Amino acid sequence: METFVITIDGPAGAGKTTVARALAQRINFVLLESGALYRFITWLLWKRGIEIQDFASKEELRNYLKSLLSKLEVRLTSFGTKVIFEGKELSEELRRKEVEDRVSHVSAEITVRDVVNEYLRVLVEGKKVITEGRDMGTVVFPSAKLKIFLTADLEVRAKRRFQDTKDRDFKGVLKNIHQRDVLDSQRQYAPLRKAEDAIEIDTTNHSVEEVVEQIVCLVERAMRWEEEGKP
Ligand code: C5P
Repeated sequence: METFVITIDGPAGAGKTTVARALAQRINFVLLESGALYRFITWLLWKRGIEIQDFASKEELRNYLKSLLSKLEVRLTSFGTKVIFEGKELSEELRRKEVEDRVSHVSAEITVRDVVNEYLRVLVEGKKVITEGRDMGTVVFPSAKLKIFLTADLEVRAKRRFQDTKDRDFKGVLKNIHQRDVLDSQRQYAPLRKAEDAIEIDTTNHSVEEVVEQIVCLVERAMRWEEEGKP
């Protein structure tokens, strides 16, 4: 089967996962949540008490990460991305506060990004896939058939994240989202930004259904253009 990639990028809490999931089921695509890979690496380093700076060289870090990812099982379904390591499904673990507080530092490291990107590109081969993250349209899949950039006001994004996660205070969630926004959009490598050819959708005042509906129309158009050529 020919690979067909749709990218959805945007800041934390913009609705990427919720929208991507609903869209994936609607159009029968699978969903690649690229943040899960950064969360997994962050989680594992944290569990093992290792800091990025502990590696003697970039080469050593690269080899370590590659061997780690070779033992990882990533399952793409239309409901989301499952990360399985040493026989354990890690979804809950990867949402931990310890991971959220560290992930933007880990993901800013170029060697980490290189290894993850290589892995992601192989993962999507031959699939109809919606990839969701920060740099899917700009760096990882520059020739994706359709690129979406989702945004929403900070307060609204924090509220959504707060509703998804139980035992935390709203201010803490707001602070974490804001900090990740700053780190993710100001980092040197692959900062969060809209690809030139991406379509921006502000989800602040729109329901998931409305956003999905809008994207379905764009997908239909992209598929038509794929078959008949862009007019
Ligand atoms: O999307 P999610 O909240 O799971 O992403 C967690 C973190 O992983 C982000 O805050 C960001 O630091 C990093 N990330 C990234 N590039 C991506 C996806 C996620 O740097 N494509």
